[in-house]
Amino acid sequence: MKVSIKLTILFVFYLQIGSTQPLSEKLFKNFELYKEQSFKNKRFKQKDILPLIDKKRNANFKVTEVGKSFEKRPIFELTYGTGPIRIMLWSQMHGDEATATMALFDIFNFLNASGDEFDQFRKELKAKTTIYFIPMLNPDGTELYQRRTIQEIDMNRDALRLACPESKILKELQQKYCPDFAFNLHDQSPRILVGNSNKQSTLSFLASAYDQKKSINGTRKRAMQVIALMNKEIQKFIPGQISKYSDEHEPRAFGDNIQKWESSLILIESGGYRDDIDKMFIRKLNFVAMLTAFESMYKASYKKVNIADYNSIPQNNYSCYDILIKNVTIDIEGQKYTVDLGVNKTEVLNDEKSTNVYIRANIMDVGDLSIFKGLQEWDAKGATLVDDFGNGKEIRVGQIANLKFSQNKRIVKVLENGMLK
Ligand SMILES: [Zn+2]
Repeated sequence: MKVSIKLTILFVFYLQIGSTQPLSEKLFKNFELYKEQSFKNKRFKQKDILPLIDKKRNANFKVTEVGKSFEKRPIFELTYGTGPIRIMLWSQMHGDEATATMALFDIFNFLNASGDEFDQFRKELKAKTTIYFIPMLNPDGTELYQRRTIQEIDMNRDALRLACPESKILKELQQKYCPDFAFNLHDQSPRILVGNSNKQSTLSFLASAYDQKKSINGTRKRAMQVIALMNKEIQKFIPGQISKYSDEHEPRAFGDNIQKWESSLILIESGGYRDDIDKMFIRKLNFVAMLTAFESMYKASYKKVNIADYNSIPQNNYSCYDILIKNVTIDIEGQKYTVDLGVNKTEVLNDEKSTNVYIRANIMDVGDLSIFKGLQEWDAKGATLVDDFGNGKEIRVGQIANLKFSQNKRIVKVLENGMLK
C-alpha cells in the first residue's frame, strides 16, 4: 500500500514536471515533426513555396493574395486565428535572407497539425490572436538571390518613398491591421560576434528606435519586453550567442517607421552558427522564438519582464574575420617582417543554374590586426608564408587565400578553400 502511494505521488510529481516544462523546450524537442522537409538549402525560389501556400494544405489559414511584385509575382498573406491581439510578420524583404521564410513554413505545418501535446496552445492562440503572415515579401529579389528588389532598391530604405510595389503592400497591410506586434524578419552576416566575446552571433534582436533620441514609449517598451523574454528562452539552446542589433535610428527603414506607426516592432536577424551554412539550425531557433513570443503575447506574460533585461543583451560586434591568422612571418628574399592576415569566405555558385555552392576565401587585410577577432584563429608565430617550392611568398589584399605555412622547412598549416588544416 505504502509503495503504491509513493508511486502515485511520484507519478503526479512527474506529470507536474512534464506539464510545467516551458513551451520553448517542448518546441525545441519536437521541431522535426513540423519541419517543412522540402527546403534542401537556403537558395529556394518562389516557385518552391507556392505549393506550400496552397489553400488545401493550410486548412486553418485564410490565404489571400495581397498584391504583386514589380515583376508581377503574387505576394500572399496567410491569416491564422480570430482573436483580438493582432500580430503581423513578414520575411525576406531582402531576397537573399531566407532563414525566417523556412521557419514560417515550419510554423504553418505546426499550426495545421493536431492531436499532439500542443492542441491546447493552438486552441488558445487561435482564439486570442489574429496572426498575419507574409512570407517572402521580395520574390523578385529572391529569384536572383539578391538583397535588393528587381528595381535595384533596398526595400528597407523605401518605407517613406514607397517606390517599390512590395513596400506599398507592406505599408498598406500595417495601416489596415494596425497590429499590436510586428516581426521584421531578416538575416545578418554570420561574421558578427556577441559584444566583446569570441562567440558568433546566431540571433540578433532589436526593438527599432522610432526617433533619433531613441526614446522609449509604450509601443517600443512592449517590443523590448518580448525580446527580453525570447532572449531568456533561446539562451538555453545557444548560451552566449544572442546579441542586439544597432539601434541607430534610420528614418527610411520599415522597422523604425512601423515602430513609429505604433506596432511594437521586433527585428529578428538570423546570423551564423558553426557548420550551419544553410542555417537549418537557426531556422529551428526562429521557429521556437516566434511561437514562444506568440504565447507571451496572448498570456500577456511579457508585461512582467523588466526592460533592464533587454538592455543587458550585448551589442553586435562587427570587428571580425572568418579566419584570423596572427603573427605570420613574410620573407621577401631575406627581408622579414611579421603580419596578421584577415581572411573572409564567400559562397560561390557552382554554375548559374545550380543552387550548390563552393567556398572561396580571400585576403581582406594584412598588417597589425590586433584589434580584430576571428571566428577561427591561428597563432602562426614562428611560421613563414611559403610558395609551392617552400620559398618565402608575398601577399596582396584581395587575392584568393590558398596559402601554405612552413616552419623548419616543413609545411605546418595549409589554408585551402576556406579550410585551415
Ligand atoms: Zn535584411
